[in-house]
Amino acid sequence: MNGDPDRGVILAVDVGGTGLAGGVVDPDGTILSAHTVATERRGRGEGVLRNLLELVTGLANDARMFRLPVRGLGVGVPGAVGEDTGRIGTDIQNIPELANVPLRSVLQEATGLRVAVDNDVNALCLAEWRFGQAQGLRHVAMVAVGTGVGGGLILNGSLVRGASGYAGEIGHITVDMDGRPCFCGSRGCVKAYASGPDLVAQVRELLEATPSPVWAELTAGDPGRIDPPLLFRAADRGDAVAEAVVAKAAQALGAGVAALVNLCNPEMIILGGGVMEAGEILMEPVRRWAKFYAFERAVGGTRIVRSGLSKQSGILGATALFLYDEHRRHERLGTRHARDAM
Ligand SMILES: [Zn+2]
Repeated sequence: MNGDPDRGVILAVDVGGTGLAGGVVDPDGTILSAHTVATERRGRGEGVLRNLLELVTGLANDARMFRLPVRGLGVGVPGAVGEDTGRIGTDIQNIPELANVPLRSVLQEATGLRVAVDNDVNALCLAEWRFGQAQGLRHVAMVAVGTGVGGGLILNGSLVRGASGYAGEIGHITVDMDGRPCFCGSRGCVKAYASGPDLVAQVRELLEATPSPVWAELTAGDPGRIDPPLLFRAADRGDAVAEAVVAKAAQALGAGVAALVNLCNPEMIILGGGVMEAGEILMEPVRRWAKFYAFERAVGGTRIVRSGLSKQSGILGATALFLYDEHRRHERLGTRHARDAM
């Protein structure tokens, strides 16, 4: 697999807790082919890595079939990634096998391609910036609410990664100093109120104290069926438990969004991820709480919107990530050439 540095398609992979989604993508964001395989969780990363490499080989074969040169490989992962090393952090929540794996060099060696690896929400933020609602803006934040609550941040036209890849972790901003415990070791994080699993946990806790006929009917008596879509249906029907959990999640997200506004003053904050598919039932109170908690002048200039990217946004994210890294590399080379010419 030889990469062509200047033209051709991007192989893009979104690594998720249960599945790997891959695509052959044109630089304009057109997905030419797409595949998914199971992530597989056994061993110490070999299962995941083997599946990842098989997927990438399949994508490269697709590109060959289309007679299109491959420009490189972009990979989004659900955890922090060191910018200089391409090494995945130790607290990758859903795929512990990848903890501390220098994924960029592993993939570069195995494929011979130029590889960009970064956090999946950073990748989503770049996808919104390149292909979505944030095109042409300079200051953009992304909040992805799903199994976790992730964040991505673009300031002055640059992705902000921080010293070890943890910048923009809005999900772990404390919104209640003595609040619910979080897997990160802290308390009262936005995530502890708003992520999918935390929404379900809060419903279960409240139902233990206050049984509800609406929930008994929705779950057919099986609490194992409680999930975020059912929660929003119950809230829509005026169930008090569901309304309380949605209200708390919206308040926590609104406070997190307000912290982003006060800290970074972005032009746009985009909320995406599975939980946000609930739509206005969540967006409306999030906007209201963000306005309540943030500086009025700052939040007045911030558009708070829901992601409009498709289900394949993870693949677009990995594509945007590769293109962003390539652009930055060319900028650095350009600067060096300009300096050499002086
Ligand atoms: Zn946390």
